[in-house]
Amino acid sequence: MKNDCIFCAIAEGEIPSFKVYEDDEVLAYLDINPFTKGHTLVIPKQHRTGLLDAEDSLLASVLPKVKKVAAHLKSALPCDGFNILQNNGEAAGQTVRHIHFHIIPRYAGEPLVFESHKGDMDELKALSERVRMA
Ligand code: 5GP
Ligand code: ZN
Repeated sequence: MKNDCIFCAIAEGEIPSFKVYEDDEVLAYLDINPFTKGHTLVIPKQHRTGLLDAEDSLLASVLPKVKKVAAHLKSALPCDGFNILQNNGEAAGQTVRHIHFHIIPRYAGEPLVFESHKGDMDELKALSERVRMA
């Protein structure tokens, strides 16, 4: 398998997938362990590990395709909304080291729990001073 990368193998057709969309640059296919019905992954066919090693030009061509597939899923499933998720690094839950965008269809009245907590204003202020970009 090229690069030992499962998503490269899917892009090359060495491993089968349930395709949703394909063109020269990207492939979209159903996630094998879906969060919700219609959960789809969009990948560039070129191997990049994540957001930080993907060239701006590559990202600029992939994001409109993510939009196109999401718009299609919204009417074809249909779903009521969707989340876009893109994990970078093991600590963020990335399990496949080939950049991919999750399109997670959402259905009214069917919650999916992303847990948050009330922010501490002093902490947020200090943090913003530390990370604010010039
Ligand atoms: P990550 O956690 O890296 O952001 O997401 C990787 C996703 O790829 C997971 O949701 C997982 O279910 C999916 N996945 C892993 N292996 C395969 C596979 O062989 N085929 C498909 N279609 N999805 C896969
Ligand atoms: Zn790859």
